[in-house]
This record gives sequence, C-alpha cells and structure tokens, in this order.
Amino acid sequence: MTSKNGQNKRPQLAHLRAVLDDLRERGTYFKLRVLDDEQGPLCHYDGREVINLASNNYLGLCEHPKLVEAAIAATKKYGVGSGAVRTIAGTMRIHMELEEKIAAFKGVEACVVFQSGFTANAGTVSSILGKEDFILSDELNHASIIDGARLSKAKIKVFRHKDVAHCEELLKEVQNEPGRKLVITDGVFSMDGDIGPVAALCDLCDKYGAIMMVDDAHASGVLGRNGRGSVDHFHCTDRVDVQVGTLSKAIGCLGGYVCGSRDLIDYLYHRARPFLFSTSHPPSVAASCMAAFDLLEQEPERMERLWANTKYFQEQLRTAGFDIGGKSTPKTETPITPIILGDGRKTMDYSRALFEKGVMATGIAFPTVAEGKARIRCIMTSEHTRAQIDQALETMTSVAKQMGLV
Ligand code: PMP
Repeated sequence: MTSKNGQNKRPQLAHLRAVLDDLRERGTYFKLRVLDDEQGPLCHYDGREVINLASNNYLGLCEHPKLVEAAIAATKKYGVGSGAVRTIAGTMRIHMELEEKIAAFKGVEACVVFQSGFTANAGTVSSILGKEDFILSDELNHASIIDGARLSKAKIKVFRHKDVAHCEELLKEVQNEPGRKLVITDGVFSMDGDIGPVAALCDLCDKYGAIMMVDDAHASGVLGRNGRGSVDHFHCTDRVDVQVGTLSKAIGCLGGYVCGSRDLIDYLYHRARPFLFSTSHPPSVAASCMAAFDLLEQEPERMERLWANTKYFQEQLRTAGFDIGGKSTPKTETPITPIILGDGRKTMDYSRALFEKGVMATGIAFPTVAEGKARIRCIMTSEHTRAQIDQALETMTSVAKQMGLV
C-alpha cells in the first residue's frame, strides 16, 4: 500500500500504521460513509439508499427550505466569508443579531457564538478556570469538556455518572481549598441519551458556592419549552452560570454558543482562545441559525413528532428484545437510542450488515465509549415516517436474529 508519491514508505509516521493495523485486527477500523444527498431520513450513503438512523438532525432543519433560503440571501448580501476572527475584523452585524436572538430565546443576559459546540465547551472551560481551581465533572461528559478541563490546568475530579452524592463528597473534599469550583454535566448524555441531574447539581452549587455549567448540545431543540434545553426543562435558568448549546444538531447548521451573564460573555470575548484565534462563521451560517430559532417557536409540532417517533421506536425495540440501556448502561430518556452490544467487532459487523440491508445505524466502539460498551447508536428525528421506522425495525430485528444478537 504505497501512495503515488511514496509517502507511505517514509518511516516517520510508521507508528500510526501500527495503530490502524491494530484497529483492523480488532474489527473496529472503519471507512467514512459518504452522504450523496441531503441529511434526510431516507438518503444515500456510498450510493446506497438507506433509512438514516445516525444523524443529529433531530428536527429536520438541515434541509429545511427556510434555512436554505436564509443562507442564500445572506450569501448574496454579505458574501461567503467573514474574513477575520471576531476580535479583529470578523464580527458582522448578523453575528451580533444571532447572539441577541439566542440570549432572548434562552432568557439570559447575553450569548456568544463559537465555531462549534466543541470549541464552545473547550474554549470556555479552559478560559474561566486556572490551575488553582477545581472541576467536578460527570464521568460521561463530552470529550470537549474533558479537553477544556485539561487545557485549563485546573484539578479535575470525576464523579460517577449522575451520582449527585458522589459529586457532593468531592465538593466537600475541596471546599476549604482556595480555588474556585466548577460543577459540569451534560444536559443529555450523547452516547446513552439519559438526562443529567441538572436541578440536583444546582442545589449542590448553591450550597457550596460552586459555578454551575451545563452542556446542552443534545438537549437544545429536544427538551424544554420549544427546545430551550435541559436547563429550561428543570426550571433552572437563573441557577446555571454557564449554558452551552450547539447549532450543529437540532438547529441543523454549525456552531456552538455559551449563554450567561453579560460579564461571562464579555470575558469570553476577551479570553476564550477559539473566539480570539479562529475565524468566525460565514454569514450564511448565522442567517440559517436565526431562521432555525424562528422555526422552534413557529413549528412546535416538529418536537411533538420527534417525541412521538422516539416513544414508538424505543417501545418496539424493547419488545423485540434489544438492550437499549437500563441494564449494563444508563437508560435512555431522549431520542438518542443506543443498542448495547458490548463487543466492538460484533457491533461493527452488525452496523455493516444493517447498511447492506438499507439501514444506516453507526457502530460506536472504544475510544468513543468505554471498552466493552460498544453500541449501535440510533437517533430518531421528527421527519421519520412510521413506514420508515417500521421498515428499519424489521431489518434491525431480522439481521440481529440472523447474527444471534437477540
Ligand atoms: N457536547 C456534546 C454532548 C456533544 O455530543 C457534541 C457533539 N458531538 C458536542 C458537545 C460538540 O458539538 P459540535 O458538534 O457542535 O462541535
């Protein structure tokens, strides 16, 4: 396997080949599936028509005509790029309008938009804390939180998943230390679909004077009034200091945001490194995001369909004998529907077999989830029809039976 220019003969990166060979041996090596058309419930990957159970396009906004029109109109008016980072010359009026719109939607003082949810988390955690401080983080929090925590150089204390008592134990251990304490949880956990104990952690933060932060990437557009997220769902808007959301999942576009006090947002404008050192969104992205927030208010039936589909899909999977959490892993409470198989190779084989039969359901193995907790992760959307769901269920069940998985 030598590339045209002979690069693969060079020894400098040979250690990477060894890792890839190891993945091949374990059966967890993958090739990227390539989407040929739009991110819809029925689409084509690698030329094959499939029912798509793998995307985060919860409300079908990725392909919504109003978002597309908004992007085209903004592109015609303002061009395709912003030309600079926000703090130099790349803050366009449309960026400010989007931030104001999100802040109003969330009922907070202010908002800053980042290039992605990842940079929103990593850039925020790393900039608001320093090495004398403490981060108390749920063991299943997203990688961007973990990376932000590491970059901050604060001391990291990991509490058992959703274990509020354990979090309190850790808070007690450090309460007399001089540094600040930050408690952080995902609003919805991305691999299991369960909801974080936001209200109970707020109680702890109030008791111990800790900063409360929630990553609502998978809760935005899914939980709370018109998709305001888990913080709204738990009526905790005034008790959460830092609310992160993504614009890349239910909102259908790209980006992340942080909501909170005016001071928090001004501080992030001055100190968050992805904000300072990476170019802002093209105007089309900001315009589409604004159209998406309008739709959350105007078309609540999308969320209703999302939840109805979720309920039906999960009931049918349980009836068919699938482990969709609650046994070896947390129980899903949202449209994220893991099918726990445990073994990485088995999971990848099942995913590939489903694809051959017209169902796109991605296998997820170590290091995205812990060793032995490999799973197929399905996500329902508002746009799946009952017929598509039934067809997917039939295929999933028959292939699982053939493979001895149920
Ligand atoms: N937080 C969580 C919980 C996520 O699942 C993700 C997306 N994988 C992110 C943050 C990052 O969001 P984005 O894709 O917008 O970078």
